[in-house]
Amino acid sequence: MLENVKIVLVNTSDCRNMGSAARAMKTMGLKNLVLVDPIEMPNGQAQALAAGATDVLANATVVSTLEEAIFDCGLVVGTSARSRTLPWPMLEPRSCGEKMVQEGKQYPVALVFGRESSGLTNEELQLCHYHVAIPANPEYSSLNLAMAVQTLSYEVRMNYLEDLEKSRGQNGSEETVSETASEEGEEQYPLVEETERFYQHFEKSLQGTGFIVPKHPGMIMTKVRRLFNRARPDGKELKMLRGILASIDKTVATAKKD
Ligand code: SAH
Repeated sequence: MLENVKIVLVNTSDCRNMGSAARAMKTMGLKNLVLVDPIEMPNGQAQALAAGATDVLANATVVSTLEEAIFDCGLVVGTSARSRTLPWPMLEPRSCGEKMVQEGKQYPVALVFGRESSGLTNEELQLCHYHVAIPANPEYSSLNLAMAVQTLSYEVRMNYLEDLEKSRGQNGSEETVSETASEEGEEQYPLVEETERFYQHFEKSLQGTGFIVPKHPGMIMTKVRRLFNRARPDGKELKMLRGILASIDKTVATAKKD
């Protein structure tokens, strides 16, 4: 399942941090690195800092937007050193590791890291299901990017090892439990691309009813995202919500004709 954990670095300006992040990942058994619109492409300095993890760096996927990096993920956790204006569901690093491991058995999951200078934007943070902050010294809580990658990758590894230990205890084989977990999986959460389509549909329907005025959308969609994030509808629930929207669209269209 560790292959299902993506480490996503957004707009990194110093490629030495990419090298150090690659090393941090590989030491914890992770290898899926995604670079979103890097300011500088990995060079010799990045490779030097990657040391024995140049393969992680060489195999990194480069994309131009965060949406592209996470569209196939069922769980996205954004990292932030400071609290933001619009509070979002938070995870402790330990429970973040646990969620990554549990859900990583079913679909790709992502941990998203921000710019060295300014972290992640509010829009980027709103694309995430949860936020995680390493509870550092409140007087100086901003870790170096690669150190933050190391700390959170360590938590993933700790949970992975714990899970492996439990599986061995119960079944003598890791795979048996992983398969059972995903087969029984009560929580079949939709992937980001499906959820994003739902939000687009929701916005369009509310424009149809006049609740959202395209020129003055205000904070409605941000709050809607926060609400559904908190509820985290599963695949079936999301389908039902799409059906509800379709019925609203139909009623609005009929009313407009009359
Ligand atoms: N000056 C920026 C911090 C950038 S640090 C700011 O004020 O937001 C670069 C990145 O490292 C952050 O975007 C985040 O991904 C990660 N990071 C640093 N410190 C962290 C912490 N305490 N908890 C979680 N992530 C952290």
